[in-house]
Amino acid sequence: MESSQEENEEKYNKEINVTNWLELYNVLNQKKNEINNNIILSSQNYTICKKINELIKLVEEKVKENCVHKLEYDYIELDIDRYEKICYCSKCMLTF
Ligand SMILES: [Zn+2]
Repeated sequence: MESSQEENEEKYNKEINVTNWLELYNVLNQKKNEINNNIILSSQNYTICKKINELIKLVEEKVKENCVHKLEYDYIELDIDRYEKICYCSKCMLTF
């Protein structure tokens, strides 16, 4: 009884964790898009962009680690008669 409660708690903590990481992931991606939408990419922005990309990779790793993935498969259209099968998680939306 007690051990299952502990397990639940651990699962709950992981979900909280992944929610936080995902929030951060979204903020970083939004920031990255904002910078990319600037027509003039100054050297300062370039440096910030590089840093953000590093952070995104790091946060992505954390999401992958903590999410109890629920994998789904889908097809994306490449061409009129070419499709690519993709695998993604419906919780964290990362692709694999
Ligand atoms: Zn996931």
